[in-house]
Amino acid sequence: MEKLVSAHKTKEIVSKYGFKFSKSLGQNFLIDENILTKIVDGAEAGKEDVVIEVGPGIGTLTQELAQRALKVIAVEIDKTLLPILEETLGNCDNVEVLNGDILKINLHSLIEEKCEQRSVKVIANLPYYVTTPIIMKFLEEKVPIKNMVVMIQKEVADRMQAKPNTKEYGALSVAVQYYCDPKIITKVPRSVFIPQPNVESTVIRLDVLEKPKVAVKSEKLLFRVVRAAFGKRRKTILNALSNSGLGLEKEMIKEILQKSDIEENRRGETLDIEEFGKLADVVYEYISL
Ligand code: SAM
Repeated sequence: MEKLVSAHKTKEIVSKYGFKFSKSLGQNFLIDENILTKIVDGAEAGKEDVVIEVGPGIGTLTQELAQRALKVIAVEIDKTLLPILEETLGNCDNVEVLNGDILKINLHSLIEEKCEQRSVKVIANLPYYVTTPIIMKFLEEKVPIKNMVVMIQKEVADRMQAKPNTKEYGALSVAVQYYCDPKIITKVPRSVFIPQPNVESTVIRLDVLEKPKVAVKSEKLLFRVVRAAFGKRRKTILNALSNSGLGLEKEMIKEILQKSDIEENRRGETLDIEEFGKLADVVYEYISL
């Protein structure tokens, strides 16, 4: 099949099938070969890898992935795209298209059943209305994947890789950097999609760490502390944690901060992930008292 990655070919297929783009499903299809190559090169996918693609659309990225990888499992929510994918991926016998919502799929079972115990990479031009839930599902469920190379909104990518003391640094930065090393591959203008989205995009690579960045007694508590610290961004860490959902009195928080070697007048946004880990472990002692 002729390559799909052009405005002309995309429009031709879409009109042949009378396909209507759904804004609510985040359907913005890629029409630029240069960006497509950057995504696939960025993941370093080869014949030893099985790729999970979220949202193949009409199969533009899938075609390229099929050439490079051992196998592609493409999960698409929109049934109306299935006949199109049958045509566009007809020649690719190493692609399996599954109809479903990636957020509802059991990823561990999917990998066990379909990925032949190979190295697994996630590569996708993600639907923007669910970017963060999709990425966090793969990370929080500790699905055995090597990396994710995904196109997402620029603002979200900036937050994922932000360092302390920047305005982008927040709970999402800590959550993502707890599980992986993020690296921005390229910025992407709106003009490379049909239809054009309302926001700028970025391709980001997330290399999943063998074990989380810090060892903590309770991951759940770590993220509660992080959320509390960023919940009241303008306040000191002492005030942000006092009377937060943690249910600890100010005097106790003072003691906890002292034990964690964190000055009480610092703001949450100045704490790095190691400091959050240490703080969460001290809070753990107080909460389980
Ligand atoms: N991969 C194609 C491309 O690059 O041209 C399409 C990308 S488009 C930004 C996002 C795709 O994800 C759409 O095909 C949309 O129908 C699909 N999608 C949206 N929500 C989904 C979900 N929850 N699970 C699986 N696919 C989804």
